[in-house]
Amino acid sequence: MKLDPGFGWTYLDYKKSLEKFRVNDYSITSFEQFIKTPNKKHLILRHDIDFNLDAAYKMAQIDHQLKIKSSFFLRVCANGYNLSSATSIKIVKELLNMGHELGLHIDMGMEKIWGCSTETSILRQFNIFEEAVGIIPKGFSLHMPSVLGGIDECNAIKDKLNLTYHAYEKKFTEGEFKYISDSMKMWREKPLSDFIGKVNKIQLLIHPIWWYENNPQENY
Ligand SMILES: [Zn+2]
Repeated sequence: MKLDPGFGWTYLDYKKSLEKFRVNDYSITSFEQFIKTPNKKHLILRHDIDFNLDAAYKMAQIDHQLKIKSSFFLRVCANGYNLSSATSIKIVKELLNMGHELGLHIDMGMEKIWGCSTETSILRQFNIFEEAVGIIPKGFSLHMPSVLGGIDECNAIKDKLNLTYHAYEKKFTEGEFKYISDSMKMWREKPLSDFIGKVNKIQLLIHPIWWYENNPQENY
């Protein structure tokens, strides 16, 4: 794995990459928009918000400037932000006003902290999300599945809660879809723009915490 193979991490780099996809006829949307109106060339833009809602807000504004409605997945068990705080609720409302989709970013393992079953833990997270955000999410993603697990349980959770989708469904990660992630601030293959024209459908996971205006210290 290479760190930053020919691709920078500033907001300008981010904007330029998305613009390249757009001029090459890719639609760039949230999951819910893709499910409603899939196009031949389509990039689903997903943001997992692990630590910091401020960074999410900055990225939401950039996407909005680019006229993109993306999918933001928010945790209810994060140490770094409280979805029920007045500050968070203000940001959540701004995200919704911009037309972005909000879903739950599930923390597997909370059952060990709460002392309950996995199912109860996940249901509790959905309930907290719905109370805090005021909407019922159509889908979810998992927080750090390579460490905390949960991929195998995703389909059962989706069916149990009658949700529209989850981000790790095979139809969004393999086959005609290419799954590209900036997890741990590393691109696992090649610069993002190298996929243009080679793959028609992409799920792009961007963690706002890794991106900055001028200096990484802005976020952490
Ligand atoms: Zn995460």
